[in-house]
Amino acid sequence: GAPAADKQAKVLKVGSSIDFPPFEFQDETQKEYQGFDMDLIRAIGKEMGREVEIQNLGFDGLIPALQGKSIDVAISGMTINDERKANVLFSDPYYQSGLTMVVRQDEEAIKKFSDLKGKKVAVQIGTTSAAEVKKLEGVTVTELNTPADCFMELKAKGVDAVVNDRPVNDYFITKNAAQGVKVLDEKLTAEDYGIAINKDNAELQKEINAAFKKLKENGEYDKIFAKWFGE
Ligand code: GLN
Repeated sequence: GAPAADKQAKVLKVGSSIDFPPFEFQDETQKEYQGFDMDLIRAIGKEMGREVEIQNLGFDGLIPALQGKSIDVAISGMTINDERKANVLFSDPYYQSGLTMVVRQDEEAIKKFSDLKGKKVAVQIGTTSAAEVKKLEGVTVTELNTPADCFMELKAKGVDAVVNDRPVNDYFITKNAAQGVKVLDEKLTAEDYGIAINKDNAELQKEINAAFKKLKENGEYDKIFAKWFGE
């Protein structure tokens, strides 16, 4: 068989913050990580002929892990932006997202982002939500580790709203319809997700983009999209 070193070189080390359904999450009944990003990176790895190994890291630890080279890529619903581009490379965009807001079902005072003045808002630490909400005037921002922590805080009335990525809010509302929260229509931003890659590894960036392009062309991307978003 192949020497151990060869086999080692083939493993694509992936980091993800497994707290972002339907992009990455762990279902109690299954041992494998689930979600759109998980299926996408496994398909990309397969296309590249590399074994995919996924590590669960905190969202704010993903870029440091790339910089420290303990992972090769990060896929975690990560928005492509200039600040991050100073530290990592990104693949071509693979999903169009943006930020929306969740409030309690009986909330009357908050109907749009400008109503957040004087209110308390929970966001996930290290995210674009955290950065964007801090720009709003007069808002008290609570940064928590996961979106689930943010939604819990909302239900416990520790905050008045949660700002988070639209598809994750929509998924949460669908799954928790009876539990007294609602998502508002207004979008604070439009954002594109990309796979983050170590800044020195332009070769890997090229390979990932080539594999992704192939999956778009052969219908595999559409299949994965339909599985998680139903279209
Ligand atoms: N898209 C947001 C960001 O990049 C949130 C990502 C996440 O929480 N996984 O900051």
